[in-house]
Amino acid sequence: MFVPRILNPPDMPILEGSVGVEDLVLLEPLDEDSLIKNLKLRYENKEIYTYIGNVVISVNPYQPLPIYGPEFIAKYQDYTFYELKPHIYALANVAYQSLRDRDRDQCILITGESGAGKTEASKLVMSYVAAVCGKGEQVNSVKEQLLQSNPVLEAFGNAKTIRNDNSSRFGKYMDIEFDFKGSPLGGVITNCMCPLPCSSPACQLCPPLLICFSRQRLPQPLGTTGAQGRIRAMCQVVSWTLMRVFLHTFPDLLEKSRVVKQLKGERNFHIFYQLLAGADAQLLRALKLEQDASNYAYLNREVSRVLGMDDASNFRAVQSAMSVIGFSEDEIRQVLQVTALVLKLGNVELADEFQANGTPASGIRDGRGIREIGEMMGLSSVELERALCSRTMETAKEKVVTGLSVMQAQYARDALAKNVYSRLFDWIVGRINESIKVDTGEKKKVMGVLDIYGFEILEDNSFEQFVINYCNEKLQQVFIELTLKEEQEEYKREGIPWTKVEYFDNGIICNLIEQNQRGILAMLDEECLRPGVVSDSTFLAKLNQLFSKHSHYESRVTQNAQRQYDHTMGLSCFRICHYAGKVTYNVMGFIDKNNDLLFRDLSQAMWKAQHPLLRSLFPEGNPKEASLKRPPTAGTQFKNSVAILMKNLYSKNPNYIRCIKPNNQQQKGKFSSELAVVQARYLGLLENVRVRRAGYAYRQVYKPFLERYRLLSRSTWPHWNGGDREGVEKVLESVSVSSEELAYGKTKIFIRSPKTLFYLEEQRRLRL
Ligand code: ADP
Ligand code: MG
Repeated sequence: MFVPRILNPPDMPILEGSVGVEDLVLLEPLDEDSLIKNLKLRYENKEIYTYIGNVVISVNPYQPLPIYGPEFIAKYQDYTFYELKPHIYALANVAYQSLRDRDRDQCILITGESGAGKTEASKLVMSYVAAVCGKGEQVNSVKEQLLQSNPVLEAFGNAKTIRNDNSSRFGKYMDIEFDFKGSPLGGVITNCMCPLPCSSPACQLCPPLLICFSRQRLPQPLGTTGAQGRIRAMCQVVSWTLMRVFLHTFPDLLEKSRVVKQLKGERNFHIFYQLLAGADAQLLRALKLEQDASNYAYLNREVSRVLGMDDASNFRAVQSAMSVIGFSEDEIRQVLQVTALVLKLGNVELADEFQANGTPASGIRDGRGIREIGEMMGLSSVELERALCSRTMETAKEKVVTGLSVMQAQYARDALAKNVYSRLFDWIVGRINESIKVDTGEKKKVMGVLDIYGFEILEDNSFEQFVINYCNEKLQQVFIELTLKEEQEEYKREGIPWTKVEYFDNGIICNLIEQNQRGILAMLDEECLRPGVVSDSTFLAKLNQLFSKHSHYESRVTQNAQRQYDHTMGLSCFRICHYAGKVTYNVMGFIDKNNDLLFRDLSQAMWKAQHPLLRSLFPEGNPKEASLKRPPTAGTQFKNSVAILMKNLYSKNPNYIRCIKPNNQQQKGKFSSELAVVQARYLGLLENVRVRRAGYAYRQVYKPFLERYRLLSRSTWPHWNGGDREGVEKVLESVSVSSEELAYGKTKIFIRSPKTLFYLEEQRRLRL
C-alpha cells in the first residue's frame, strides 16, 4: 500500500461521520426523517449551515459563533464553493463571482419563518459584499451608509413579537448595484504578473480588495510553466465598486395594525420606546412627550422593556446612523416629531356628543392633548377635531357633512395614526435610497437581496397571513422553475443529456388566488366595490359558490377531495391547500383590511398642516389632486408588488438561503425535530433535494476531484502527467464504477447516486 504524501486539497464535503453530511444531496436514505436527523446532528455540533447543492440551509444558533468577520470573509473569498464548510459567505461569494465572471445579475432569496434568522443572514450578505467590493473614499461612504441603514430600518420597522425580540415587520427587497471598471467589461485599471494560478488561495499579489479574473477570461492566456511547475498567468486586476443600494420595502406588508394595537407579550415598533428612553429632557419637552411609556395608550403597558435590549443607547445609535446616511438635522427632528405625533394621537380620547339636531356624534374629551397635537402639526385644533369626528360625503352636486359615532371616530383616529406611521416609514426608505448612491452613468450589475416572511400558519389566520402565504406560493413557483432551469442549463453547458423531472406544479394554487377577475383577490375587490350591503360573510358565500369544485379550496359547506364535509371548520372560514400544507383563514376583517380606507377629511386636513414632512406624506389631500377615484385596495397593491418582484427575480440568477428556527424559546443548542420538520416541509426542502439530484446527485470539477481520488489508481498515483479528465477516467475505471453511474461533462464529472461517492470515500479512507 502506498502512503500519499500530498496534502489534501482543502476540505471536501464531509460525507458521513460525526457531523452528518454537509450537502443533503448526499443523504441516504433520502426521507424527511433522515433529513431532520442530519440537521439536528449538525446543529448539536454547532454546524448551523448545510447545503442542498447551492442552496444554504441555516439553523438559527441563538448564540454568537466564531465564524464571522474579516478573517472568514477573506477565507471564503479565496476558496471555491465546497472547498470550505458550508457558509453564507460561500454563497455570497458565488453570487458575487458569477456576477463578475458570468455577467449575470444575482438575487439572494432568504426565506423562513419569523425568528429563523433571515435578517441576520441578509446582514451577513451585506457585510460580505461591503468587505469585498472595492474601496475608495466615495465607495467607503456608500458601504458605511449601506451598513448603517440597518439600525434605522430596524428601529422603525422592527418590533418585539412572541417569536422574535427583534422581528422585522416589513418585507424587504434590496438591490445592491455595482459599477465596475475592468476588462473585458470596462476599462482595464492595472495589469500585474502573477506567479500563481489565480484561483490559488495563496495568491498574495493581488491586494485583497481587488479581484483577479480567472485565466480563462483572458483573451490570450499568457501562462507559462514556472520553475516549480506552477503556472504563470497574467491577472487583470479589476476594481469593483459598490455604487448604490436601492431598497424596496413592501409597504403593504408593514404591519400597520401594530401601531395601534399589539398582542399580549408583544411591543409596538422599537422607535417609540427608544425615543422615550433615549431622548434627553430638552428633546422630550420639545416633542411634548413624557418619558414613561405607560402614559401612552398605543404602547403595550406590560412589556416596555426587552431583555438584553438597551432602548436608550439604540436611540443614540439610530440618531447617529441617520446622520451617517445623510439625513439633515432638520430632517431627523421632523421624523421624531411625526413619530411623537403618532404616540400622542393614541391618547386622543373620544366621547359622545350630540349634534344640534339631537343625533349622536362624537367629540374630543381632552382639550390639551388635541391642542398640543394641533400645534405640532401646524393645524388648528378645531380643524383637526372636525376631521376626526365627522365625515364629508361628496357627490358631483353637493357636500354632506355627517358626525361620526364614537366608534367610527376611534376608527378614524387609529386609521390616521397607522397611515401617518406607515407613510413615515416609506418616506424614510425613500430617503435612504436617495442618499446611498454615487452618481455614475456606467453600466451596472445588480445583486438583489430578499428578506421576507416565510409561509405562516398561526392559530388564527387572517388577511395578513393570506397575502404572505400567497407571496410564498409565488416564491415557491420561482424556486422550482429557476432551480430546474439552472440544472438544465448546467447540463447543457456540460454537454450532458437532460431528463425531464416530475415535480408538483403549484400554478393551480397561484391561479386560485391571483387570477384576474376570477381569483380570490379579485372576488374580494369586487365585494369591496359592490354597492349595497357587503360583509365578510357575503364575500365568503361568494367564494364558496365559485370554488366549491376547486381541488385546493375547502370550506364548511364544500366537500373536500374525499367528498366529505369538514364540520370542525369555523363558519366564517375557508381553507386553502397550499404547496406547504393546508391553511384555514378566517374571513372576518378581510373587507376592512382590503379597503384600508382613510377618510378623505383626514388626508385633506393633513395636507393643510404646516409641518412640512407630515404634509408631504398626504399628497392626495391636496384638493387640486383630489379625485373621486378610489385608491387601489390593499390586496391589489400587494398583488402588484408581488408581480413586480417576480419579474425582477426571473431576470436574475437566484441563490437561496433557507432559514430554520430550531426552537420557540430563542434558546441556544436546542433543536426541536417537531418544529424543524414542519418548517422543512414549508420550505420544500425534500422536494428541493429531489429536484437537485433528479439526474446526478454529485458533480465536481475534474481537477479537485482528481486531486482527491487519484491515490485510488496506480495510473494516477504517485505521478500523473496527463489531463485532468483523463486522470479522472483512469481513477474511476480502476475502482470499477459502472459507466451508468457517470457522465463526463466538459469541465465536471457527474455522479448519479450518493452511494458511488460514499464508495469512493471509503476506498480513499482505506488507503490513507
Ligand atoms: P428573522 O428575520 O428570520 O425573523 P432574525 O434574523 O431577526 O430572524 O433572527 C432572530 C434572532 O436570532 C436575532 O436577533 C439573533 O439574536 C439570532 N440569530 C439569528 N441568526 C444568527 C446567527 N447567525 N448568529 C447568531 N445569532 C443569530
Ligand atoms: Mg427579520
